[in-house]
Order: sequence, then structure tokens, then C-alpha cells
Amino acid sequence: MPRKTYTHILATLGPSSDSEEKISALIDAGADAFRFNFSHGTHEDHKKRFAIVRKLAKQKSVNLAILADLQGPKLRVAEFKKDKVLLKEGQKFVLDMKKELGDETRVCLPHKEIFAAIKVGDELLLNDGNIVLEIVEKTNQSAVTKVKVGGELSSHKGVNLPNIKLPISAITKKDRDDLKFALELGVDWVCLSFVQSVDDVIEARKLIGDKAMIISKLEKPSAIEQLEEIIKLSDGIMVARGDLGVECPLQTVPILQKKIVHACRQYARPVIVATQMLESMIEKPTPTRAEVSDVATAVYDGCDTVMLSAETAAGKYPVQAVKMMSKIITQVEADPHFLKSVQRAFVSSKCIDESDSIAYAASEIAKVLNKVSAIVTYTSSGKTTFLIARERPRIPIVALTPEDKVAQQLALVWGARPVVKKRYFSSFEKFEDNAVKSVKEKGLAKAGDHIIITGGFPLGVRGRTNILHTVHIK
Ligand code: PGA
Ligand code: MN
Repeated sequence: MPRKTYTHILATLGPSSDSEEKISALIDAGADAFRFNFSHGTHEDHKKRFAIVRKLAKQKSVNLAILADLQGPKLRVAEFKKDKVLLKEGQKFVLDMKKELGDETRVCLPHKEIFAAIKVGDELLLNDGNIVLEIVEKTNQSAVTKVKVGGELSSHKGVNLPNIKLPISAITKKDRDDLKFALELGVDWVCLSFVQSVDDVIEARKLIGDKAMIISKLEKPSAIEQLEEIIKLSDGIMVARGDLGVECPLQTVPILQKKIVHACRQYARPVIVATQMLESMIEKPTPTRAEVSDVATAVYDGCDTVMLSAETAAGKYPVQAVKMMSKIITQVEADPHFLKSVQRAFVSSKCIDESDSIAYAASEIAKVLNKVSAIVTYTSSGKTTFLIARERPRIPIVALTPEDKVAQQLALVWGARPVVKKRYFSSFEKFEDNAVKSVKEKGLAKAGDHIIITGGFPLGVRGRTNILHTVHIK
């Protein structure tokens, strides 16, 4: 059941959605891609899920993307003696490197980099920003803090240090093990958490090579400072609003979302808007009005993909959440203003090479040619499809690729309908026939329609698109 919408849905798998039956229902409800969250679950769990997703994709003849989301350097306090402690506003609370279990007066924070980087007056946010501590004294092994905002704290809760750039890589020892495992499984995309600078992306690229595409999760203010550079070096971006909203003032998140989505368009990179999109559906079968409006806004902003986290991983209504998201996307995209607004949002002034220019021209032809029903892109790496998607054309982008992996990767890209055709890349004579055949097979064009074809000559050479061709289907 291929999607009819331009915007895609990424669902996180977890205990609520592990079975073949549930995953099948998620696909039928409209999920195009699945996130495996390596902060939770065992390798065995992920392996089982991977096999189910690939099996169902084959059965249903769909290209589904699988994303391995690495935990990254998520900083956490160690353990407490009791289940939880209550920190009161104004009290002193000590963070140190001692192994003893914590209490109301102190807890171990097993990250010496933090003690080296913090200064008196800095703030530490604990438990998703619900507790705020201010540093009043520090050594290289400990810090005395004053509780500015109190609350309950328990073992392993997260610690955020907004505005402090730590001398740590985005890839921890655990991430390296998880990455090796994920690449052996054959995931399509790898998501890097808590990217702080371009160096983190460069380091990841060295480890990943071309085995998977890379998504940088933007959730640190320091990453926003290098926004364009990070986008250029990544294959895709996630607006990771959960941690971003802890690290940056909450009210700046919607503005950052628009800024990031726009910047990704400039550089032709797919962008995912993530976290708390239908949060209340973890517990309830219907979302709040505000959540529906939030999903709609992301779609109007022109993002490629919207994401569900705990809603599908651990919630009570995973299938309903995907169905709801699909309904919202369908409704927004039916608004006659939708396409106009996403097209207007991008000023196509960055035609820098022949591939960009061909993509731009294909989209312009789609606006003026009579009865044109699809753009067919011959793409070895998937990048031409990124370029055409950047223009947000009003007709589907059928991506013909010889690689299963590329077709799966494209499941995150706005308007893309990937098709794997190995032999289509063999002969220039068949360039036109093959494109026509595949749009007909997909039910996207009929006799009397035009289609637009882009490709590269010589055939099969990566990274070069230099042909633009129109066909009037007989
Ligand atoms: P996470 O990332 O769910 O892995 O924390 C998304 C976010 O922070 O929004
Ligand atoms: Mn996060």
C-alpha cells in the first residue's frame, strides 16, 4: 500500500510495537520508516525487529527505511540509595565522582569531562530540565551546587548542560558497539545524538563510510551555531525537539524548527521533525488539538518526515497514532495553499552545478507542461532525488535506482516513490521505455500524460545528472 502523500511517517519501534502483527498494522496505517532506538532494548530485540520489517517490506512490495538511532553521550547521574530523593529550592547539592550511592545531599556524576568544563555560575539541568542546579564551587572531581528549581530525582536521570561544549565525541564506546552491530544488520540510516560540531559528523563518516546515510540530530545549541556546516556534511537532519527544548529556551524551539527545515531545503537534505508530536496518544486514543496543529505545522513548514517516538514504541495506541498522523498529513496536503506555501518557502537561487540545474528545471517544467504526471529520476546514490525533492514539485518523484539500500533510504525523502530496477541502468535506448513502464506500473501515469525524466550520461555513473527529457505517453 504505497503512500499517496508527499510527507512521510517515521515510527519508533519498541515493546508496544514489536510483533509482526503490530509492525504490519503500522505499515498499513502509513509508516514509511522505522527507528530503532539504541538507548533502549538489546541487540537481540533490534535483530528481531529488523528481520520482521525487511520480511514485511518484501511481502507488501514497499521500500521501508530502517534507522539506527545511537544513544550518543547522554550524560546521567549514577544511582541513589532510595527510589527517589526530593531536592528543595535553595538547598546545597553535591555532584562528585565517589562510587557510594546517592542521597538528599549528593550523588555521583560519573563524567569527569563535566567537572573540567563547568564554571561557577553555570547551570545544570536534570531530569529533562525539571531540576535546575547552579554551580557555586567546583574542583576537578566534584561540584557544590545550589538548587534553583527543585523536584524529584532518581537513579540514571539525564543531565543537560546547555551552552557548554564538552570535549567529548558524539560517539561513545557503547555507540561504537551498537554501530558495528547496526551496520552488520544492514540499516539504511544512522542517527547521531547530541552532535556538538562538524567534527562529530566527520568522525562518524569515517566509521560508517558508505554503508549507511547519516542523520545528525540537532539537540545542542553548539550544533545550531554550526548549522549550515553540519547540514552540508550530513545526509539528513533531525530536529530533535526533546533535548533541544531542554538545552535551549523552550519558546525558541518552534523558531529553530522553521530555521532548520529551511536550511535543510537550501542544501537539499531530508529533514525529520521529531518528539512529542502526538505525545498524549501514549495514554489516549485521540490527540489534543494542539498536537494535531503541531503535526500540521511541521507539514506546512515543508519537512520531509514526521516522527513518532514513545507513541509507537511504548504507548497504548501505536497503530492509532500512525493513522492519526496519516490523516493530518493527508488533510494538510489537500489544502490548495499547501503546495504554494512549501514551494514559496524556498528560493531556488543555489543552482551550483549541472545536477542542481537539471533538478530545478524539471520542477519548473512540471509547473507549465500540460498533463504532466510524474518526474522520473534515474539515481544511483539517491542524491538527484534529494535535489528534485528540494524543489517540492507538485507531482510524485519516481526514483529508479539499482540499489535496494538507496530505495530504502529514499523512503524519508519528500514526495519520493522509490523503485528498484537493476537492469534499467544498462542501456541508453531503453531510457525512455523503462521510465514509462515504471510509472505505468505504479499507476502514476496513463496514455496522453507527459512525464519528465532526469538521468546521467554515461549511465550508472554516480553523482552526475545531466539529461532532462520529456515524454508524451502514447
Ligand atoms: P531521543 O531524540 O528521543 O533519542 O532523545 C529525540 C529528541 O531528543 O527529541
Ligand atoms: Mn534526544
